[in-house]
Order: sequence, then C-alpha cells, then structure tokens
Amino acid sequence: QTHFIFHSLQAKMSRPVQARRLEGIDKNIWVEFVKLAATYSKVNLGQGFPDFPAPDFLREALMRALSGGNHMLHQYTRAFGHPPLVKVLAQFFEKLLGRDLDPMTNVMVTVGAYQALFCCFQALVDEGDEVIIIEPFFDCYEPMVKMAGGTPVFVPLRPNPPKDGKLMSSADWQLDPAELASKFSERTKAIVLNSPNNPLGKVFSRGELGLIAELCVKHDVLCISDEVYEWLVYDGKQHIRIASLQGMWERTVIIGSAGKTFSATGWKVGWVVGPDRLLQHLRTVHQNSVYHCATIAQEAVAQGFQRELMLYGKPESYFVQLPKELQQKRDWLVQSLDGVGMKPIIPEGTYFLVADISPFKSDVPDVPNSEEPYDSRFAKWMVKNKGLAAIPLSAFYSEAHKNNYTNFIRFCFAKEEATLKAASDILQKWKQEKTSS
Ligand code: PMP
Repeated sequence: QTHFIFHSLQAKMSRPVQARRLEGIDKNIWVEFVKLAATYSKVNLGQGFPDFPAPDFLREALMRALSGGNHMLHQYTRAFGHPPLVKVLAQFFEKLLGRDLDPMTNVMVTVGAYQALFCCFQALVDEGDEVIIIEPFFDCYEPMVKMAGGTPVFVPLRPNPPKDGKLMSSADWQLDPAELASKFSERTKAIVLNSPNNPLGKVFSRGELGLIAELCVKHDVLCISDEVYEWLVYDGKQHIRIASLQGMWERTVIIGSAGKTFSATGWKVGWVVGPDRLLQHLRTVHQNSVYHCATIAQEAVAQGFQRELMLYGKPESYFVQLPKELQQKRDWLVQSLDGVGMKPIIPEGTYFLVADISPFKSDVPDVPNSEEPYDSRFAKWMVKNKGLAAIPLSAFYSEAHKNNYTNFIRFCFAKEEATLKAASDILQKWKQEKTSS
C-alpha cells in the first residue's frame, strides 16, 4: 500500500512545475554578483547603492513617524499611495512638468521603481506586442517584458570615439536615428527610456528625446520613462522629462525612486506619475499584487518631499547638494581610473561609471569559445583575486548582443571617500605589480 502511494507521488512530481513565462529568464546577474561581492570583496563598487547615510532629515522623519502619536501609521494605508505622499508628489511634479496633477489619479506609489516597472509591463504589454529597449539597459526590462508576453526589440547606443585622445563621455554614446526609426512598427506598443541611463550615465539631450517623442507620436507608441536618477546630473547639464515634450504626456509613464532620490535604497519606495488613462491600468496590477508599500516609509518620504518642496532650487536642498557631492566623487574616481590606465567613460549623470579594462586584460586569461562574455569573467576574477567588486557591462545587453562590448566594467561611485580611496589603492597596487613583473 505504502509502496503504491510513494510511486504515485513520484509520478506526479515529474510534471514541470514552473509556468512557461519563466522559461529562459531564471538566471539573474544580481543574484550571482551580489553573492560574489559578499563572499570575496574588500571594496564593493558593484551594486548601485550608497554606503554613506541617508540624510538626517529623512531619518528623523522616519523616527517621528515611528514613535509619534499617530499609531495608525503602523496600519494599512490607501492602496495606490499614502495620501500625504501622493499629494506632495503631485505638487512637486506640477512644478517640474508645468501642468496640473490630481494626486489620486496621476500619481501612484509603488514598492520601489522596480515594482513600478513591473506594473507598467503587466498593465500595458500584451502577448505579441513589441517593446523597444535601448542598449545598454537596466537588466530587468527584458525579463519583465517577456513575463508580460511581449517581445523585446533592442536598439543600441553606439560609441563614437572622441577626437584628440580625450576621455570618452557618456554623451559620445548615441542612437542612430535611422536605426531607431527602423525598430518602430505597428507591433510596437512601447519604448523604455532610461535617462539618466544606468549603466553609462548618459543624459539624453533635447534633440535625442525629440526624436524618440516624434516616433512615439507617429506610431502611437507608449513611453515608459525610467527617471530614477533624475536629480543626479552633473556639469550643469539638465535632465529633460520626455513627458514635457509635445504630444508625450498622454503616452508617458514617469517612474521615480525614493531609494535613489534620498539615498535610501532599502526603503523601496517608488512612484509613477502619468495620465489617468494609463495609470488606471497600473492600479489594477498594483491592487492585485502588492496592494501597497509600507505606510511608515511612505510617511517619511512624504516629509522628505515636503522639505524639498520648501527648499526647491535652494543650495540647502538635498536634490541640489547630493549631485554636487557625487560630482566630486565621480571626478575623483575618473582621475584614479585614468591614472592606472583603466580609461573611464565620463558619465553625465547617475552614480555609475563605465571603464575600459583593456590594459588589465593580460592578467586575466581568456577562454576561447566560452559562452561567458570576457568582461564577466574579468569582473569575477577581479573580485576573487583583488577584492574589488564591479559589474560587467555585458550584463546590460541582450543575449544576442552580449559579446559586442566585453571590454568594460561598471563601477558605482555613491560611496564614502574611504571606500573610493580603498578601490583606488587596489588598482594602483595592481598596476605596479604589472609594471614590475
Ligand atoms: N531603474 C533603474 C534604472 C535602476 O538603476 C534601478 C535600481 N538599480 C531601479 C529602476 C530600481 O529602483 P528601486 O530600488 O527604487 O526599485
């Protein structure tokens, strides 16, 4: 009798358990590289998060929310966003976009920008729809499009080598207008735009955004605009919101993140801003998946925004101070990488920097005909042997294009001075060993 039951149980377990939509998307670069960094790194410039504290005013706001008189902050709040947060976000974005916004229908709070992206793809992309993704891209766009049943269509930013032996800038990576136009068809449902761009740090110019906007309008295509690094732009550059271009508001969802904005990635508070005709469908996904994000974190972020609204454009504003500090860190890392010959591509925005590893390749043996892109092997070797963690650029390319750019790694410079100095020491020592051997 027992024998029989055992057999029938085994038979049942031979059936595939995973849904078809998970096929081919089970590998994740972050799971692998975060584990490697945790195991081997002495200095971690890999994953994008600050190792300096979130600003005092934000931590104090959380403390007040936690221990103040309003014990209801420990309970559920409104599903689509804690009222004080959607209200202040609407006020803030009215200023940025120059249009009236309804906090209840034009704003939704999500569990980080990650869940905002997930809501967009689930709500707007159907089986058979194509979604244009600009390479290199924040890696989750591809599996999220596929999980929704859509087909990602990739178009690359192409590097134009700078003249006069100058360092390359992220602005030297550009779309080919004809190539971009060729990707739009009647199957195209949406394009994902990420400006400032992770990993390159590219801040799209008005001209580039105009071109994308024109194509979106012409082909009636939606724009999922990931603007989580909106405040991190340098050298007096301006972040332009594509939603403010003609014909774009009605077809754009803007995505933001308190994690990036207030240097508190662990809070996982994000938002979407856009027209009700799009957001109503995102709300359906949101209410049937996570319902809402932690009330107390939303309350504290609301207070952070109230402060920033009051100080808007003033030198004390965190959104003014943070990029100033990060620009110094960027310049410092640029110099130290250039000093050892790991040529950096100077980012115009974000807290990432991509550098050329070519001069260090001789230390890391290539494996001919390997499936793994060279930069990935290099980054693994570097963390294991030198204790320095970074992310290979190929992680930000689709499978078909992973082997096009295998000489670059991405560093995160949202780090304390001591961390950046320690990274620089490792590289300098490495270079000395190379020259003396
Ligand atoms: N979009 C981009 C471009 C990002 O770099 C990140 C975080 N690395 C996210 C979205 C996700 O943001 P969050 O942590 O708020 O979920």
